[in-house]
Amino acid sequence: MSKRLCKMNHRDIRAGLGQIHQLVAQPKFVCSSCARSANDKSSLCKPCLIPEQARKPIVDMVSLAPKSQVSVEKNVTKKALKQVKKRDKKLKKMLKAQRKLLKKHRKLEAKLAKVDKRLNRYAPQLDQANLAMH
Ligand SMILES: [Zn+2]
Repeated sequence: MSKRLCKMNHRDIRAGLGQIHQLVAQPKFVCSSCARSANDKSSLCKPCLIPEQARKPIVDMVSLAPKSQVSVEKNVTKKALKQVKKRDKKLKKMLKAQRKLLKKHRKLEAKLAKVDKRLNRYAPQLDQANLAMH
């Protein structure tokens, strides 16, 4: 690339983006006049070598734990929250079903009492057998 990064306008940048990626992905130089960086000093107007010690920590900071840890924690809490919500929903559903069944049960009990009464009237001995079965 003949033109310096420092002198590029947005049209140059768009046209040479592929080359720019390669120039700035692992920069060795920083421009002391405009703070752009590149791995080729001819791409900067006032290139300054970036010391190796300064280069490494930056890469480490980006690639290593803190960021990914935070995102994992976020994911975990999100997941937990989702699970709690899901459980809540299930619980509510179960409670509703329980109430419905209880209602049905009461109705059936009333019906059973009626039938029992009728049985008692028509066949007391049958009712006794029925009781023994329970
Ligand atoms: Zn510059």
